[in-house]
Amino acid sequence: MISERITELKQKLGNDLLILGHHYQRDSIVMHADFLGDSFMLSQKAAESSAKYIIFCGVHFMAESADILTDDNQSVILPNLRAGCSMADMANLEDVTKCWNEILENTELKDPINRDNPDSPCPENESYLIPVTYMNSSAALKSFVGEHGGIVCTSSNAQGILNWAFERAGKNGKVLFFPDQHLGRNTGLTMGLTVDQMATWTPGEDLDRDAWNLIDKSKMILWHGFCSVHKRFTVEQIEEFRNENPDGIVIVHPECPRETVDASDSNGSTQFIRNFVEQQKPGTSIAIGTEINMVARLAKEHPDKNIECLDDKICPCSTMYMIHPAYLMDVLEKLVEGSVPNQISVPKGIQDGSLLALERMLSIKK
Ligand code: SF4
Repeated sequence: MISERITELKQKLGNDLLILGHHYQRDSIVMHADFLGDSFMLSQKAAESSAKYIIFCGVHFMAESADILTDDNQSVILPNLRAGCSMADMANLEDVTKCWNEILENTELKDPINRDNPDSPCPENESYLIPVTYMNSSAALKSFVGEHGGIVCTSSNAQGILNWAFERAGKNGKVLFFPDQHLGRNTGLTMGLTVDQMATWTPGEDLDRDAWNLIDKSKMILWHGFCSVHKRFTVEQIEEFRNENPDGIVIVHPECPRETVDASDSNGSTQFIRNFVEQQKPGTSIAIGTEINMVARLAKEHPDKNIECLDDKICPCSTMYMIHPAYLMDVLEKLVEGSVPNQISVPKGIQDGSLLALERMLSIKK
């Protein structure tokens, strides 16, 4: 049996091994994880660990962040190298650099790269463009952000991170947020921004005068990226659930579109959703708008509550699902034999900038 073999191999590797599992992984992977969490919690666990081998059961950008946060003598391994994230792929360095340059050329905003101390709040009467990237992005983008006085955020700390960024942008400054427009917009609304204060940047589109006027009036410029899993949750599904469960509660992830978040009772990161479900009374009906593996696990963990996925036809995140137990077993076999398979190594040239952006994030309280 694969599961028994994984347990044996884990025992052989002992303290040299740490297995991290994201909430969206299937149960047959999660059962072997030393820690189960969201990308923020798992990045903290990687940074604190002294294990020689860290196997990241998640997707590529998470393993990259773990590699950046760990020492050179530690190896981060992704059991299946094809496990990427379609949202992270929606923003690349070339397009973001083009967007960055165009905004700087067409506005009065300055590049924080020229400030003596980009970590201090913005000097009075100055206005900067501050880049903020969601954790779901490549190391090259995290490096860009770090070099240009910006920061990484996750869905569990986005509000605190945006407060940090706005302080550094100055009164008339702006934040460029990528790649997930929905997390940016939903967090901005929670912080009191209006929809008009958040313009959208679609890579490849030429901007006319009206579009530049919208950017001029905005506080935040949102990259036109989205999660293909979370965009499937809709207001109609919420209405249908409420018709069938008049006392039911709906909670969704902030990667869902604004209308869906607005229609829900609450929204938050995967960890927030877990805590929220725990706090509900027995007998409560709860519809959850996030990845199906996590919803199914919550339903099993809380048999006293009626938990269902907001979209009953939803599939798992196809790339998270690429981490099959057979791949986990295979990388463990190779480690026991003395080789290091599927290692994720962020090139030296982008380590420093991305580390800076991640450390800025880790230093900020949620
Ligand atoms: S759930 Fe969405 S954002 Fe998360 S890994 Fe899958 S595609 Fe990417």
